[in-house]
Amino acid sequence: MTDYRVTEGQTNSPWNLKGIGMTSQRTRNRMIERLQEQGIENEELLTLMARVPRHIFLDEALSHRAYEDISLPIGHQQTLSRPWVVARMTELLLEMPERPDKVLEIGTGSGYQTAILSSLFKQVISLERISGFQPKAKQRFQALELSNIELHHADGYEGWNEKAPFDAILVTAAPASVPATLVDQLSETGVMILPVGEGEEQSLTRVTRNESGHTSDVIAPVHFVPLQQGVV
Ligand code: SAH
Repeated sequence: MTDYRVTEGQTNSPWNLKGIGMTSQRTRNRMIERLQEQGIENEELLTLMARVPRHIFLDEALSHRAYEDISLPIGHQQTLSRPWVVARMTELLLEMPERPDKVLEIGTGSGYQTAILSSLFKQVISLERISGFQPKAKQRFQALELSNIELHHADGYEGWNEKAPFDAILVTAAPASVPATLVDQLSETGVMILPVGEGEEQSLTRVTRNESGHTSDVIAPVHFVPLQQGVV
């Protein structure tokens, strides 16, 4: 198995980017081993997830659980997805024949998934309906020196027409069915990854745009918070 140990980060940041104990590099490397056991193969992604300090995307009281195989509360009744879900959704974008340049994310939340996307793709536009999430997410991106992210307080059901078409769209909350507005904002060969369905179990779905419309395929059962209408 590849050794994903990476060099230690900054030691004097107020964000404790380096981590200690349950947030240390050793703990992060264990998360990477678990992801490999769960079938994640993309080496670039695994290396990246070993580096990105997932614990700074949580409140301090929960940061020691950041690298466990679970989803975690981030306030406003929302959750940070478990590492495998973040990894698999991102890996599906890396499996596209050409690497997408411009990616739209819906549901910024803590900003963890956004940070992962930002390190892999040229331009990331992320929409969030709850304004309370944005200041902290911005501070985290600054601490990690991520500068290719554009955040908007907006309803993701509408997408972001101003910057469409997108090579890829990743939705981190579940609509009952695939929103047509978002399919329309995909480029000619664009791909959208999203959970679809109501209630306890939804299907992680890949929508691929083509000349005659689009095709959908189901990847795995997942459990996400619902995609909700309007901004607050
Ligand atoms: N990607 C996030 C996951 C957050 S949970 C992370 O890594 O932390 C899902 C997020 O989607 C929540 O922040 C929720 O407020 C947001 N959301 C739900 N419906 C939305 C909508 N219509 N438009 C934009 N964001 C939405």
